[in-house]
Amino acid sequence: MFKALVVEKDDEGNVHAAVKELDESALPEGDVTVAVEYSTVNYKDGLCMSPGGGGLVKSYPHVPGIDFAGTVEASSDPRYKPGDKVILTGWRVGEIWWGGYAQKARVKADWLVPLPDGLTTRQAMAVGTAGFTAMLAVIALEDHGLKPGNGPVLVTGAAGGVGSVATAILANLGHEVAAVTGRPEAEEYLRGLGASQIVPRAELSEPSKKPLERETWAGCVDAVGGVMLARVLAQLKYGCSAAAVGLAGGAKLETTVIPFLLRGVNLLGIDSVMRPYEDRVRAWERIARDLPMDKLEAMVQPAKLEDLPELGAKILKGQVRGRVVVDVN
Ligand code: NDP
Repeated sequence: MFKALVVEKDDEGNVHAAVKELDESALPEGDVTVAVEYSTVNYKDGLCMSPGGGGLVKSYPHVPGIDFAGTVEASSDPRYKPGDKVILTGWRVGEIWWGGYAQKARVKADWLVPLPDGLTTRQAMAVGTAGFTAMLAVIALEDHGLKPGNGPVLVTGAAGGVGSVATAILANLGHEVAAVTGRPEAEEYLRGLGASQIVPRAELSEPSKKPLERETWAGCVDAVGGVMLARVLAQLKYGCSAAAVGLAGGAKLETTVIPFLLRGVNLLGIDSVMRPYEDRVRAWERIARDLPMDKLEAMVQPAKLEDLPELGAKILKGQVRGRVVVDVN
């Protein structure tokens, strides 16, 4: 028997989440059975636990949790053997498939990556999809020419999961980081992660009246989208790029093509869910190398399976700071 957070839907369409004892027959089909050690809470996990499953969950009862890390218990795939430490993020696990909010999971071997040297399973989940995606965004900016010394790099939604990890990685790589936050009380926290400038959210919340503003940013990791991303595009320096990661502030993007035509700026789309294996391994190796573990620890808020419904509701309101690490045992 093992524990899992099971979400059920009643006849009125309301969802109820509770920790239940299950046996192995409840596990889905798959090549690799993993004894889960840690999971986490991303924005998408909040959606998956909300009424309607955020449009992501297709059937109930459901075990959410888009990420997990743990130890292989059994494998019918030659790439993994019992005792191997593994990470799973994405592939719609925890949305349409059984997720990481359980002491056991069974998945396709293709979806796993080996835990990189230098990281524990707990640290991997302190990173989670949010931090992994932040790393993908930084790599995309670098691949488009970002180098330390080019100027300040903007991080939006900075006190959230993606933003916290992006801030710590960029600062550690020697970039000057400007952190946008709607939480003035997060200033000390963000400076501790390496931000050298705090930009109040209100400064970028109203649409610009002009298609081009003063050239300010050498790059941007954007977790917010909407009006804020439109403002950022108008403020990028010549030839620089913004990596669009999230939509915490809105999915609609109203802008003009002028920054693209007159300043040659780039808008880079970042998807973490269907990312090919080679990109995943490269990003996890970069995380192990470029994210200082003391900074990661400063982001962590520990939690248990029982805490998840409340944390899911909080992350949707933008009230979770940094990264939640869920010890499922
Ligand atoms: P968090 O809730 O941890 O962070 C989001 C942050 O955005 C908040 O902490 C807050 O930061 C800011 N924010 C919230 N609401 C608003 C608003 N209305 N206007 C402006 N800023 C706001 O979520 P995550 O970091 O886990 O995810 C961030 C986004 O990235 C989500 O939209 C998520 O779906 C997306 N995402 C996409 C991935 C991909 O593959 N493309 C993978 C992972 C995440 P502050 O308090 O500092 O202002």
